[in-house]
Amino acid sequence: MDSGSQRKEPRSGPSFDKRVSRKTTTSRSNTLSGMLKLLAPKNLAVGIGTPLILSEFAGDNNRRSGVGISFWSHPNRLLSHLRKAGSFIRLGVASNSAVDVAASLSSSAADNLSTLNTKVCIIGSGPAAHTAAIYAARAELNPILFEGWMANDIAPGGQLTTTTKVENFPGFPGGIKGVELMDRCKNQSQQFGTKILTQTVTAVDFSATPFKVSTDSRVVLADSVIVATGAVAKRLSFPGSGEGKGGFWSRGISACAVCDGAAPIFRDKPLAVIGGGDSAMEEATFLTKYASEVFVIHRRDVFRASKIMQKRALSNPKISVIKNSEVVQAYGDGDKRALGGLKIKNVVTGDVSDLKVSGLFFAVGHEPATKFLGGQLELDVDGYIVTKPGTTQTSVRGVFAAGDVQDKKYRQAVTAAGTGCMAALDAEHYLQEIAPLEA
Ligand SMILES: Cc1cc2nc3c(=O)[nH]c(=O)nc-3n(C[C@H](O)[C@H](O)[C@H](O)COP(=O)(O)OP(=O)(O)OC[C@H]3O[C@@H](n4cnc5c(N)ncnc54)[C@H](O)[C@@H]3O)c2cc1C
Repeated sequence: MDSGSQRKEPRSGPSFDKRVSRKTTTSRSNTLSGMLKLLAPKNLAVGIGTPLILSEFAGDNNRRSGVGISFWSHPNRLLSHLRKAGSFIRLGVASNSAVDVAASLSSSAADNLSTLNTKVCIIGSGPAAHTAAIYAARAELNPILFEGWMANDIAPGGQLTTTTKVENFPGFPGGIKGVELMDRCKNQSQQFGTKILTQTVTAVDFSATPFKVSTDSRVVLADSVIVATGAVAKRLSFPGSGEGKGGFWSRGISACAVCDGAAPIFRDKPLAVIGGGDSAMEEATFLTKYASEVFVIHRRDVFRASKIMQKRALSNPKISVIKNSEVVQAYGDGDKRALGGLKIKNVVTGDVSDLKVSGLFFAVGHEPATKFLGGQLELDVDGYIVTKPGTTQTSVRGVFAAGDVQDKKYRQAVTAAGTGCMAALDAEHYLQEIAPLEA
């Protein structure tokens, strides 16, 4: 979570983190930026190591201001911008050098021509997928990983590429940028020999082994598959809710209270949560640890949340409820660097009121990325993959699921990584002990 208001507090403020990294990575990005310009006239090929590289490539003016998230410093936003321009773009978010870009381009050209075989095919590119890849590669299973190409509008690297600083992943006491964390994960996967393909899986055939995993242009035949395609936190759209100029996403607005709630900008400040289900109740209760007060804003006059969750949340003296209401605008604080408040419309009377808050958290659900499975794995009512308790085994033997795509409760990078490890170990066990018996 980024905040202009934290700029005077080095080490604790994400903006500081962003400015420092911009200074320290300049020479690398200059090299890459030169290469990008060379490549641009033919097929625009973009390799991104950090958001800075995008800034260099784009000649970002915002760099001087050091305020909030600049348009070009955000890979997902750059990607959608370039896509709209209709360019052919190949983007490896975690490539760290011009050499990586060239390698990635040439391997992709060759890869598009043939069907590949592997012991383990991993689908996804978040912490779950890369942890599975690291374990599978070290076990000499020669994994192939499809990292996706703007799958669900998220860049390779997953949900963490949409946030600024991650402060709760072990091993980084000063925090680490989400993009950088995923960059490191990808490097580690590759270092042990994972073959990474920047393509989105569009179909699978789990009816027989080897399993078939297809993209628009290729097929991988795999003895086992790990699905780690994650989920997308739903966001609401109204003036001021977005990224970039005039928007307060990551500058007071978030979709993850557990991830961002402890940030200094929210301490002892009034906060709001939008939603009416269990998540909204849980997030509101969680935020009372830090906030001066928490408002739960809900469109209806009854909550969807279970009675017990409602009781726990609504009996908390710090929580107030604003029913029959929706947020119609978010606006900035004094210097407009961070969220200052909300305009709220009563859907019954039409009256618009003002609510001064420093934080707004969407708790309106997640969508697991399971459509491409075509109903071949058992899903729960919300579309999450069902796994056998205590394992990552899905309803199809030899197919495993890890991370947010099978977890609607914890939804954290470290839990995703944990289940990624489990999936690789489960796959290894399956390949060594079970598959040979079944053959
Ligand atoms: C704004 C925000 C901030 C967060 N902050 C934190 C934090 O501070 N700490 C924390 O622990 N957690 C945080 N989280 C939660 C954390 O990001 C997730 O729990 C974690 O990323 C889940 O990892 P995953 O591996 O399951 O999948 P994801 O990170 O969801 O990644 C899945 C990837 O798979 C790719 N994919 C999807 N479909 C396909 C397909 N068909 N073919 C190929 N690829 C595909 C997607 O492009 C995506 O990149 C945050 C989440 C958000 C949204």
